[in-house]
Amino acid sequence: MPQEDVLRITTAILIGWIAIIVIWERVAPYRKGLSLFREGFWVDLVWYTLIQSYVLKILIFDYIIAPLQTRFDWSDWQFVRDWPIWVQVLFFLFTHDLYIYLFHRWQHANPWLWRTHEAHHSNKEVDFLAGSRSHVLEIIINQTIEFAPILLLGADPAVVPIKALLDAMFGMFIHANIRVNLGPLKYIINTPNLHLWHHANYREVFHANFSTKFSFFDYLFGTVYDPGHAPGDKPENWGLYYDFPKDYFLQHAFSVRRFDERALLRYRWFSRYYYLRPNLLRWLSRRKSNSQPSQERVDTYPAD
Ligand SMILES: [Zn+2]
Ligand SMILES: [Zn+2]
Repeated sequence: MPQEDVLRITTAILIGWIAIIVIWERVAPYRKGLSLFREGFWVDLVWYTLIQSYVLKILIFDYIIAPLQTRFDWSDWQFVRDWPIWVQVLFFLFTHDLYIYLFHRWQHANPWLWRTHEAHHSNKEVDFLAGSRSHVLEIIINQTIEFAPILLLGADPAVVPIKALLDAMFGMFIHANIRVNLGPLKYIINTPNLHLWHHANYREVFHANFSTKFSFFDYLFGTVYDPGHAPGDKPENWGLYYDFPKDYFLQHAFSVRRFDERALLRYRWFSRYYYLRPNLLRWLSRRKSNSQPSQERVDTYPAD
């Protein structure tokens, strides 16, 4: 099948899956009352899902993997070339998931690596889109290790979009705010129940439920936490136990050097930048409601 057709089909499936998950979250919510436009929605959608993904896709494929492909001769290594395509997909799903399990576990144990992962845990309201929030460095490391072997070991070109589709579908599923019971399949396939606990602010889960697609690894390595009930509903029951910036660039700056967001507001340039988006939103909503535009600037940051 031509690559354009594969891309068209995988994109159509992804759009359908998003629609299913959004409806599912409304019909059978894990936490009741969570709105679609929850806190951090726009940061996750605009910065992480659209802009960051687009830029990093170019960086990873064109500037890291492509030079590796052309600089070295990989023909002796291309042992997956003659396998059926579904075996190739399963092989890369399984091996990458094992890698992700181990690296994810290391990120929780190592204070420096934690800085590349804490952003992923910073949402207090977790839904299908919250999984997109990942530090730039975390994506560069994980996606290079994910896609470089697929291309270098001679897999069918369709494996890349199929694997990317499965990543997106699983990512949305395990973060989705849905109540779902997979029965005994929960020992193999990861579930929102297990991964939502991973996003909860309880000491018991600081080093548990690391799996992405196959919960099997958590059961195998003894790191599963499944108490049979949901975490509490209060903001302090979710996300990080310390303050974390709400802005995309500040979230990355915070991973390099700790700072107090509020203390930086004494600098005029920072204050201007910090309140740019709330001021813009306020201005737009005033224009929309046809009220008198005002020069007054806000000094509060909206929830989102
Ligand atoms: Zn984690
Ligand atoms: Zn997650």
